[in-house]
Amino acid sequence: MNRRHPSLVRGAVVALAFVAACVLDLDRGPAAQTRPVDAPAARPLLITVDDLPLAGAAARGDAAARRATTEALLAVLKKHRIHAVAFVIAGNVKTPDDEAILQRWLDDGHEIGSHSHTHPSYTALTAAAYLADVASSRAALSAWLTPRQRTLRLYRFPFLQEGDTPEKVDAIRAALAAGGLRNVPVTLDGSDWSFDRRWADAVAAGDAAAVDEVRQDYLAALRVAVTRAEALADRLLGRRAPQVLLIHANAVGAANWDAMFTWLAARGHRFASADEVLADETFRDLPIDPGRWGYGHYHRLARLRAATEARGAIAAVLQTQAAAWNRGDLETFCSVYAADATYVSPNGQTHGREAVLARYRSKYPDAATRGTLSFTIEETRLASGLEVTPFDAAVPGGVHGGSVLARWTLTYAGKPPATGLTLLTLRPRPAAADGQPQWEIVQDASF
Ligand SMILES: [Zn+2]
Repeated sequence: MNRRHPSLVRGAVVALAFVAACVLDLDRGPAAQTRPVDAPAARPLLITVDDLPLAGAAARGDAAARRATTEALLAVLKKHRIHAVAFVIAGNVKTPDDEAILQRWLDDGHEIGSHSHTHPSYTALTAAAYLADVASSRAALSAWLTPRQRTLRLYRFPFLQEGDTPEKVDAIRAALAAGGLRNVPVTLDGSDWSFDRRWADAVAAGDAAAVDEVRQDYLAALRVAVTRAEALADRLLGRRAPQVLLIHANAVGAANWDAMFTWLAARGHRFASADEVLADETFRDLPIDPGRWGYGHYHRLARLRAATEARGAIAAVLQTQAAAWNRGDLETFCSVYAADATYVSPNGQTHGREAVLARYRSKYPDAATRGTLSFTIEETRLASGLEVTPFDAAVPGGVHGGSVLARWTLTYAGKPPATGLTLLTLRPRPAAADGQPQWEIVQDASF
């Protein structure tokens, strides 16, 4: 599996809003499904399969069952002319039967990549321990591939965790590069692994209705994830974004990949090679985004873009204030305070925008007292975190607020400047007018 979610209490309202949005997106499906599969505009899609030799319930079957599941997976890939990347947990290749499974993937033209040796969480390990695990996997898989005239060149992070500190991200990036390995990010993920247990139980019980219910859920999760992720990615890149689907070598997949791939092709995806998809510029310099939880490439881009926009919006508040101050417009200077803002100085507290404005008017009645104001931003921090989708996947949430520490300076014509620090707490404005600052100050401590 490639997802772990934080132990957040899921908000029912958030989940309902999410589902409602998905339903609206899916309503646009029929038009998309009329697109010819091989039209030039078709979206390149790389299929990646994790947790080989086999994942979930299928991994625990006997040799014949394991072979049968593998053949079923490979038959669907062949039917849809897909050249996949199959990511192997090297430590799970223990027997000749396991090796025979990998050999079948190679025989069918798929590429073998590394998915670590023991599928560890990078967040839970030191860089040294994690790098040792990756090195073990690389050594074992290279030793297996080299006599077969293949080269190990691709890596997939377990749980999509690339490191929770900048130092750990740097360490694994350097190690992968030194080992000739490239991280293959994920962009589409329907949490397919989460349906495998239910599927296996329903099949074992011979409960056809339950089997069909799991099938519907599995396919619906994929459709919702794909529809939403495509819209996000296209918005970020300003074009039809290439995609990388994450699925697992499991029993629920063996029975349902055909329907899934048929839907993807009808929706306008063109199954493409790793070389083609990974050559896209969006995958060239992957953003450094340390975090405890792993998630997809476009979610990383969206999170980083939202952070950049929030920092810009906070800086714009200070710019608006300085410009207003310097033209003697205290009304506009105070317009960036929330109606219920609190202002704190060594002289006490002031509550409410109108009271803050009155305070400034009495303390700075004319140009001589106001001088010329400038700010230097020392530090900006943002309040943002993860949200959990109805499919138990952790994805970045929005930026809900922030704080900025800045130095203010007042310069005067005939006397020395005054300077001090201000610490502001801000939040996005629910309905900001065009051209006005998009954020507002809720607390201001200045001294
Ligand atoms: Zn995995």
